Amino acid sequence: MNKAKLKKTLNRAEEHCREHGTRFTEKRKHILQLLLQSEVPLSAYELATHYQSAFGETIPAMSVYRILDFLMAETLVHKLNSANKYTACEHIACDHQHEVPQFLICERCQNVKEVGIEPSIIAALADEIERAGYHLTQPQIELHCLCERCFSAS
Ligand SMILES: [Zn+2]
Ligand SMILES: [Zn+2]
Ligand SMILES: [Zn+2]
Repeated sequence: MNKAKLKKTLNRAEEHCREHGTRFTEKRKHILQLLLQSEVPLSAYELATHYQSAFGETIPAMSVYRILDFLMAETLVHKLNSANKYTACEHIACDHQHEVPQFLICERCQNVKEVGIEPSIIAALADEIERAGYHLTQPQIELHCLCERCFSAS
């Protein structure tokens, strides 16, 4: 992500928090910045390590978790449950409504793409689940794929 886009996205995130009456503190901003600048999803521990090298300040993993919880509640960050890692939302600077996010995860380079799967597909899936006697509690789907670059290199 280039400097201009990073700045715009962070400003948008700040506005978003202001609209919701929450505070986009310096530490929260730094964690989001690290995720925006990372090519791959990061764990809380990786974030703590990157934090120290980028901002010259140590941050306990517990604080990173708390900040991630905040950023997730604001839909600025998503958690990839299968990898137990975090990724910045790709729609922070967009104006449209945020859908239930689905993720395409490249199993070779760990690159992630956030996509909005059609609600009718999710509804069909939920029907199928109900028929099996189960109830969908978490509609986030994480699909393991090869990204375009890795696919053409293979
Ligand atoms: Zn998102
Ligand atoms: Zn968008
Ligand atoms: Zn890849």
